Amino acid sequence: METSLYENVGRQFGKAADMMGLDENIKAILSQTTNEFVVNFPVKMDDGRIEVFTGYRVQHNNALGPYKGGLRFHPAVDLDEVRALATWMTWKSAITGIPYGGAKGGIAFDPTQYSKTEIERISRRFTYALGNNIGPEYDIPAPDVNTNPQIMAWILDTYLSTVPASIRQASIHVVTGKPIEAGGSKGRDKATGQGVVYMIEKWATDKKFDLSKATYIVQGFGNVGSWTARLLKGYGAKLIAVEDVTGSIANLEGIDPDNLAVFVSKENGVKNYPKADSIKSDQFLKINADIFIPAALENQINAETAPLINVKLVAEGANGPTSPEGDEILFKRGIDIIPDILCNSGGVVVSYFEWLQNKRSEFWDLDEVDHKLYRKLSDAYDKVRDVSREFNTDWRTAAYIVALRALENVYKRRGIFP
Ligand code: GLU
Repeated sequence: METSLYENVGRQFGKAADMMGLDENIKAILSQTTNEFVVNFPVKMDDGRIEVFTGYRVQHNNALGPYKGGLRFHPAVDLDEVRALATWMTWKSAITGIPYGGAKGGIAFDPTQYSKTEIERISRRFTYALGNNIGPEYDIPAPDVNTNPQIMAWILDTYLSTVPASIRQASIHVVTGKPIEAGGSKGRDKATGQGVVYMIEKWATDKKFDLSKATYIVQGFGNVGSWTARLLKGYGAKLIAVEDVTGSIANLEGIDPDNLAVFVSKENGVKNYPKADSIKSDQFLKINADIFIPAALENQINAETAPLINVKLVAEGANGPTSPEGDEILFKRGIDIIPDILCNSGGVVVSYFEWLQNKRSEFWDLDEVDHKLYRKLSDAYDKVRDVSREFNTDWRTAAYIVALRALENVYKRRGIFP
């Protein structure tokens, strides 16, 4: 039976905790979130009407550092989803060894139905409603599905307006993923995709697989999907199919990801892209390729779809794209997975670099950002691979064990108050 997203997290967590023999008390702490905020707030629409929106922020854990995680604008946002996403953030930070905990938030609405000025007011009013439940040393939001640097700049501006003038400049690290002009970092925009590509490169080296001859398919062509596709092109690999909310397209001769990105930025989707054929969603999943990059929403690879997939590697750009049932099927079929909490952690790692630059009033070069990102992710990859060998287990469970070991250590050192 398929379970809710947060129940899926519980299943993944329980499997790893049992396998490694995680301390029962620490297991009890980590299997719950710490704080959950639900805010209903009114916003004036362009025509003068008032609409009331529901926003969420869930803080899962801050044992390793301040709460950290993105904000999502999507009609499917609800407490269950935000809890799951917040928990995954805790594991991501712990795996990559950055000093953060995990949080996530969002607003349940469809931004495509609202004007830019309405989205600005919705974002600002949500920030105001969250008040001091976020903060530069406490809980630091970032972009996620349907949010972007512009929205982060509005959040920054609103937050700074609510703090004393004397500490405004010292508070710009309240949000990451900002535009460069507003204190953002070079390389943050592409960071998640860059991380996915570094992980694929590590996998290819391990498997002695020649990426210049690889074919790949991508689901979702937003920030993560498009950057991953474009950066993989640099290795000589060939993109042969893409799917997003508007439809699915394929061209076995190859689709140029840069050209497709220009098309998508104008047309808001891959549908009707003239240099590929339109296909059905199940045809997309069945395409024979080397690498599948899910970079859209959750539970796309499940009991029904996992048997259709025909690839060697699933590199999870999205959060939670594979359900526990899907995982089992892929495992039995011998398909490798680089799990989300490792594969897509490049975003939060470069968020950490942005946060550090803000705190130190520094601006790093792109080379420096990329180099540091590669080192962090490469170490994390090696740790997960080694643990998967140590426990003779799948990579998702191994990634959890790496995260849980770090968390177990900090709790054992610090103890529980009182
Ligand atoms: N939303 C991204 C994620 O799911 C980035 C989070 C961040 O940078 O804080 O990892």
